[in-house]
Amino acid sequence: MQTADWILWNARIYTQDPEQPIAGAIAIIGERIGAVGHAGDMRPWQGPRTRTLDLGGATVLPGLVDAHLHLEGYARRRMGVDVDTPTLEEALERVARRAAYTPPGTWIIGRGWLQERWGRFPSADDLDPVAPAHPVALWARSGHALWVNREAMRQAGITSETPDPPGGRIARDPRGEPIGLFFERAMDLIVRAIPEPSTEELAEALYEALHELAALGLTAVHNFDGPRAFAALQVLRERGDLPLRVVQHLPLTMLDHALALGLRTGFGDDWLRIGAVKIFADGALGPRTAWMLAPYEGEPENLGMAFTPPEAMREAARRATAAGLWLAIHAIGDRANREALDLYAELRELEARLGIPPEARRHRIEHAQLVHPDDIPRFGRLGVVASMQPIHAVSDRPMAERYWGKRCATAYAWRSLKERGASLAFGSDAPVEPPNPFWGLHAAVVRDGWHPEHALSLAEALEAYTVGPAWAAGLERWQGRLRPGMWADLIVLPEDPFRIPAEGLRELTVLGTMVGGRWVYQRLV
Ligand SMILES: [Zn+2]
Repeated sequence: MQTADWILWNARIYTQDPEQPIAGAIAIIGERIGAVGHAGDMRPWQGPRTRTLDLGGATVLPGLVDAHLHLEGYARRRMGVDVDTPTLEEALERVARRAAYTPPGTWIIGRGWLQERWGRFPSADDLDPVAPAHPVALWARSGHALWVNREAMRQAGITSETPDPPGGRIARDPRGEPIGLFFERAMDLIVRAIPEPSTEELAEALYEALHELAALGLTAVHNFDGPRAFAALQVLRERGDLPLRVVQHLPLTMLDHALALGLRTGFGDDWLRIGAVKIFADGALGPRTAWMLAPYEGEPENLGMAFTPPEAMREAARRATAAGLWLAIHAIGDRANREALDLYAELRELEARLGIPPEARRHRIEHAQLVHPDDIPRFGRLGVVASMQPIHAVSDRPMAERYWGKRCATAYAWRSLKERGASLAFGSDAPVEPPNPFWGLHAAVVRDGWHPEHALSLAEALEAYTVGPAWAAGLERWQGRLRPGMWADLIVLPEDPFRIPAEGLRELTVLGTMVGGRWVYQRLV
């Protein structure tokens, strides 16, 4: 019989395996779990090369999976200027400081501002005095608006003549001069002027960022950034340097290429594989571009916007599913969610005609932040995964109450969605929000007291960080539970999260993160 590489014992192991929910020891063989049980059960697995580790009563959970983040954005944000500051002045100070040690003419990029916090939108007039010689581009926290200075607009060739592109808007003064704010697709006009890092440079940045995520307790992520990140991730995979498993989603702009290549969801290996095709149905709450059934509070004209016209979404979705590609539709407003569900209802009919069962296409809706009460049961009925980010409920609360008013009764409604049969997959949307999964668990369970009827139990929230994302990616046979034959992806915690007050969840830090039988982060041995 094969013997184990690792035996971890004297632990409280929450396996998420209904046949054996709690265990005391686990044996790891290569990249997989060999056995789960009591310390005594491990004896046959002990060999001359087995390393045993007494966990001293620590807690072991299946590795956590972030089902929605942006790896390139996150890695680059770590290098950029953080303008998530209480005041506009502080943000400007940070830009000035960065400008002081950056060669003139070099782009300064950053992210994190929120006009709600500053009381108004910033503009180029604010930035020009602090960085006159550098092009500066700063993303809003939501990633749906870009604030730039005049040097950036000059380098990007933006003038009063530049028209608003489809799906985007350039903010202008009364004379028609751009003031340094670009919304949605208009951001592309600036972004294409910013020099891109090389694949190797990005791979280095991702390497650092992925290790940071591993130290937070994540063992896998679903990446929603595009081909540049994918190429860099492949470099890391080739070198055997990927600390986490990555499901790489594809932007809609790549659909034709994916179809031409015959690429299908699930292609890849245990470390890096193709996920769904992502379609944007709408924008975001912050800039009030989320697509609404009824106008925003106090803005009777504003229904937000359809990011991809419904007919274009349908057409793309039909082609994708017929070719074996799953869908992930970004939908924040209640209208966008309804459109996405309508689309999925039609898709399910098409798939039925093609003989494709629903579980062979794990379509999902990203964010699902505001869902009309009538639409809540449709997620479960249609077998659509609700890919949600609990931390959004906490940080969006003031905006949501202001712009959605009473409609917040079914905002961030993960409990109702789950009770009505939806499969939940939780994530962070980093760099929009911090990627710490324990902040997400805390938000899912506590919600800072906001609409507590939507709170989950810790066990349910953990499921949405483990079993849920595994299901969403079609990886349930290998990921999400600690059971013989499954991937040896686990985390070790100094405290039992089920035995501490929920408030303490936010403070939890891991002692070790094992992915595929290898410690990618640990302060244990
Ligand atoms: Zn996102």
